[in-house]
Amino acid sequence: MKLNLKVSKLANNFFFISNLSEWHFSCRKKYNDAWLKQTGNLSDLENKTISDFRDIILKHGFEMEKSFYSFPEKEVWNKLEKKLRKSELRRLKKTFDIFNPRFEKIWEKDAVENKMKAFQKSLNDERYCLLVENLNVFLKNRDKKKNFTVIILDSPLNEENVTAAGGANMDDLMISLELPVLKPKSWELEYSIGILLHEIAHLLLKESDYFPYFKSVVNAKLPGLVNRNIRPRITNLEFISELIIELLIPFGYLAQKHFIFKPLKTSFSKKNLNVLRENFKKFRQGKEASGSRLRKTLVWRLYPVVKKYIEDKKGIDESFVQKVIKTILIEKIN
Ligand SMILES: [Zn+2]
Repeated sequence: MKLNLKVSKLANNFFFISNLSEWHFSCRKKYNDAWLKQTGNLSDLENKTISDFRDIILKHGFEMEKSFYSFPEKEVWNKLEKKLRKSELRRLKKTFDIFNPRFEKIWEKDAVENKMKAFQKSLNDERYCLLVENLNVFLKNRDKKKNFTVIILDSPLNEENVTAAGGANMDDLMISLELPVLKPKSWELEYSIGILLHEIAHLLLKESDYFPYFKSVVNAKLPGLVNRNIRPRITNLEFISELIIELLIPFGYLAQKHFIFKPLKTSFSKKNLNVLRENFKKFRQGKEASGSRLRKTLVWRLYPVVKKYIEDKKGIDESFVQKVIKTILIEKIN
């Protein structure tokens, strides 16, 4: 597969406004804190404008994001003209105008491009190419020449323990990657590569011939079982898809097999396992528990299963999905 990394100022500008509006649970609070720390608190006018923006994006959702990320910058507004009402378009443009001075303060094109180039270089390492080969076999990707576009978004975080974050909410061949400053040869850099490949894996799973079958099995076997007391609330299908991808990367078996920084030493350190155990106890008692931590516990327990598939060069099949579902059901009932 080919990954085309791309930086667009307009996409970053949209991301900045959209994240500040906190319209979706996936908006990153930490970014907003960092941006406001750098540029000052929002004025009354900005607060009013952003809440108006929130109303518009709540109506159009990720479709709007897709327009800003997928079209060439010059065409974005023309394309939006066809998708939005006139009044919405006017309000949207007004939001960009009002937030422009603030965005200009945080936007540094060269810095973002340099981050992207360094990331691309690390990505070309042979170990990650081998990882992708395993990924293709397991997720039954027959079209090895597939071209993916990766929209690079500037993450304002630059502390230790900060990695990239990703999203695959647009279409079959495009993901976004929020890229912070990453030190060469650090676990943060390697994990960030894992995040990128995680998002790609989502697209491969969703597109595989296997997906419709997978969907029907999950819906039939897990009616309302998983998501009762886990947060954030997601559907069973989303939960299991996420789990299957996490079984591979960024802390699943493919990371264990190919990474320099092995998940069994990092993500599943003694300290982290204790946190997972506590969360799991809550889940069992029917108390509110973290969904991402619950999945991590399940990944930990299913390591031997996915390892066998990868080493035998087997693709995902019914028996694999049944084993995953069985583990969840057993964990829930016992
Ligand atoms: Zn995911």
